[in-house]
Amino acid sequence: MKKNIIFLFVIFLLSTYFSIAQEYVNEPLLGTQEVAVVPFDYLQDGNEQSLADLDSGFFSSSNSVKNFIEEISYGKASLNGTLYPYRTDQPPLFGTGYTNCYPLDQDIINQPDVDYSIIDGIILLVHSNTSGCGAGVSSFNKLPFSTVDGDFEFRRSGFRTDFYFPYDFSRITSSTVAHEIIHSFGVPYHSNAYIKNNGEWTLQGYGNLFDIMGLRSQASHPCSLTKQQKGWLTDNEIENVSITGTYRLHALEKTLPNQTQALIIDLPNELDIQPNDATIFNKLYLEYRGLTGFDDRTNRNVPLSDGSVHTVQNPHGLLIVGADCETNNDYCVPVLIDTHPEPLGDVGANYDPHEASDAQLNLGEIYQVENNNISIEVVNVEEGEYIDVLIDFTPLSIEEHSALSALSIYPNPASNYIYIDATKEFSFTVKLYDIFGQHISSHHNTNSINTSELSDGIYFLEIEDSKSNQKKVEKIIVKK
Ligand SMILES: [Zn+2]
Repeated sequence: MKKNIIFLFVIFLLSTYFSIAQEYVNEPLLGTQEVAVVPFDYLQDGNEQSLADLDSGFFSSSNSVKNFIEEISYGKASLNGTLYPYRTDQPPLFGTGYTNCYPLDQDIINQPDVDYSIIDGIILLVHSNTSGCGAGVSSFNKLPFSTVDGDFEFRRSGFRTDFYFPYDFSRITSSTVAHEIIHSFGVPYHSNAYIKNNGEWTLQGYGNLFDIMGLRSQASHPCSLTKQQKGWLTDNEIENVSITGTYRLHALEKTLPNQTQALIIDLPNELDIQPNDATIFNKLYLEYRGLTGFDDRTNRNVPLSDGSVHTVQNPHGLLIVGADCETNNDYCVPVLIDTHPEPLGDVGANYDPHEASDAQLNLGEIYQVENNNISIEVVNVEEGEYIDVLIDFTPLSIEEHSALSALSIYPNPASNYIYIDATKEFSFTVKLYDIFGQHISSHHNTNSINTSELSDGIYFLEIEDSKSNQKKVEKIIVKK
């Protein structure tokens, strides 16, 4: 429930900042980020966390947000700032949505003791019990504000204390709060997972529970794609792989300059695990978690909705993260691929949100990359330190040269017509589906399909070779 509410917030912010996403998603985040932490007390019920605990949670305890940022960035970014006393002169908040759950701009920008000219971000801590409000919300980069000190740009993140009280603030928020702070660093997405649900591959929002941008309340380091985008992993620690060989992959959590901590495979052909959704991968990021530092949280028991407990398996194997650069035109979103898609024996339907807990490819197991003739095998594991991965790129098979793959389909995006040209004579059926998998029309041996009546959006053409029954699915964008 809470998760859904937060998701709605993020959708709202995504749509607000979508157009500028490209400007910051690959922008490095380096150096010390100056923040002002301003707690707003709307309840004054005596259950407020002490200022000493808040300060320790953000800046000084071993589990502080500051320590977390330093660890995940390999010391390339940090957090510094001031915690201000509770503000108690604001009216109570009621309702839902940002403006009813968090301080308004005039409350944010009129704090006379905050020096707006030096801050990179403001962190609002809200002690209230308004129902229907999410745990946290964040801008996806700096926003312009007209403050009492003048016009400045800074990030804005908000957290609601009732989601982590009476827990240990320093422990809980260093994941929940850090999730929102990473959003504010210009990370506009969540780390999702591809899981199999009722026999179908489905995208699980927040599904990567090895990643703080996934299931945040239990999460750990962000994935290698995010770390690359923020400049924390550089080309010195990332190896692009395109020839057959065995590659050593060091633990992602450790500060290991010039040691490979991510392998990237640029896929020759797009990987479309579920043709009925928009997610398509053109790169795979491979990473290994050593379970050190903040990642020791990965070893944990997950309470299930039926009251039982599932122990998350140690990911001493390979995590394979697809880069989905097509769902959004402007940036790539990480999606963990569950290499063990069949549900674990004793877990059942209640397990759904945590289905990807066994996503890692274990020693001796092989992942075959569909449509690419690439196989990935873990051949050695040195727990906590590194794994060795055999990546095999075999030549294209004969089927790749079949009549079906020689079809050309154009233009894409299409406006009024899609044309289908076969270089070889053969008989085929074309079916057109919308993004929800709804069948629109069927055609036999046609060389054009009229799209003038279709509304703008994503569609799928399924072409079946009548003789061999081989199928090919092509994603089509209609744009007028
Ligand atoms: Zn989020």
